[in-house]
Amino acid sequence: MQKRLLVGNWKMNLGAEQAKELVHGLQPLSSTLKHSEVWIAAPFVHLAALSHVLSGRSFIKLGAQNVHWEKSGAFTGEISVPMLKELGVTFSLVGHSERRHLFSESDQLAASRSQVAGADFKIIFCVGETLAERESGKTEAVLERQLKALTDKASTQNKSAIILAYEPVWAIGTGKVASAEDIQSAHSFIDSFWREHAGGAATPILYGGSVAPDNFQLISQIPLVAGALVGGASLSLEKFSKLIQIAEM
Ligand code: PEP
Repeated sequence: MQKRLLVGNWKMNLGAEQAKELVHGLQPLSSTLKHSEVWIAAPFVHLAALSHVLSGRSFIKLGAQNVHWEKSGAFTGEISVPMLKELGVTFSLVGHSERRHLFSESDQLAASRSQVAGADFKIIFCVGETLAERESGKTEAVLERQLKALTDKASTQNKSAIILAYEPVWAIGTGKVASAEDIQSAHSFIDSFWREHAGGAATPILYGGSVAPDNFQLISQIPLVAGALVGGASLSLEKFSKLIQIAEM
């Protein structure tokens, strides 16, 4: 059985000491898991120190929040996979709605970034509609547009190393969670699209958007929900530990 994934997205939060303390605190529980895995997407500047805290123990996987597709070059402000791998980083988020909407990253740019996905570096590719898009009945059209940019550009090898995350933009950081029906229907649409355009094999689809200990039990039981991408609640040892316990049940 596929393990449930609980991915913390710390965004631009936590100082160096707080970051180390949080990973340190997550270790005892994370090291005992049988049915789930804990992944943390930390700010770039903390990755070296966190890798040192984990010192090769792989029960918490470290990730970046964005990545460039070239290995090196004149790309001010960007980070490459070889740089990340040197620090023991094994995955990156791509296409997070904050990148798309606050920093104008396009579908094409997100698709280009995802071309680094491969056997030893996974990409969590985020898709999701805004409230205006949902209310005007465009949810599936938006998901299709975002996914099509990805599947048009990705190689077979990229596709086998891509995990998807459905994150309705209006549910991120707002305390509003999509209903079970909405989540199920979006996941099922994404799953069908992926199977049709990525060679037939399914890939895990995470849900993200105000996931918290009081709603995750229900969300984790929705068909085709393979885990969660968690922002706010991943910054609290208590809340994230509760989510891990629920994922493990
Ligand atoms: C996210 O950042 O991907 C996210 C889902 O944030 P939050 O859990 O705070 O809504």
